[in-house]
Amino acid sequence: MSELIGADFRPSKIVCVGRNYVDHARELGNEVPKAPLLFLKAPSAFVPNGEPILIPEQSQQVEHEAELGIVIAERCNGLQDTDDVKRYIKGFTCVNDVTARDIQRSDVQFTRAKSFDTFCPIGPHIVAELNVEDIGVICRVNGEVRQSGRTSQMVFSPAFLIRYISRQMTLMQGDVIATGTPAGVSKLNPGDVCEVEIEGIGVLSNPVFPAKD
Ligand code: ZN
Repeated sequence: MSELIGADFRPSKIVCVGRNYVDHARELGNEVPKAPLLFLKAPSAFVPNGEPILIPEQSQQVEHEAELGIVIAERCNGLQDTDDVKRYIKGFTCVNDVTARDIQRSDVQFTRAKSFDTFCPIGPHIVAELNVEDIGVICRVNGEVRQSGRTSQMVFSPAFLIRYISRQMTLMQGDVIATGTPAGVSKLNPGDVCEVEIEGIGVLSNPVFPAKD
């Protein structure tokens, strides 16, 4: 069972997890965090499958990050280790956590680097029933594989993340959790086509355009 993600998709928030794959943390010269490293992406950054990613003039280094996304089924907070998280999961989808890497490095906060308009492709649909313990997470640019990891390499599992985040902030129906990216992030240029493919979900494909001609 799957549900298409259209242009009217409106999560109240997009919660992201940084450095949740050991090899990606290392490629950027970071340690693996002892607890999930959380940050938010502005919901206004969302674009559906097929819509362009726009390269803003403020950045010289915009990069893709292929990630497994969790879509929340119903409002929840304060989930304990003994609580079953399944009822709170509407399903899974592909997320491209597009990042202005130069701005991320220059700012203390991730907000600006992660939240330009069009910096959050999500889709193409939500798959309700999926075992996400060990599935492939791939990013291709112009058909060439740049990232290829497996969810079994995550430091913190999806179930752990839902419980952890719900104890930090109330999760609302339709909210999205982006669970981190494997190694291989690289620069996107105008004219590229960026695809995030997750095994059992499908392909999220977005062309890359300059923000201005
Ligand atoms: Zn990310």
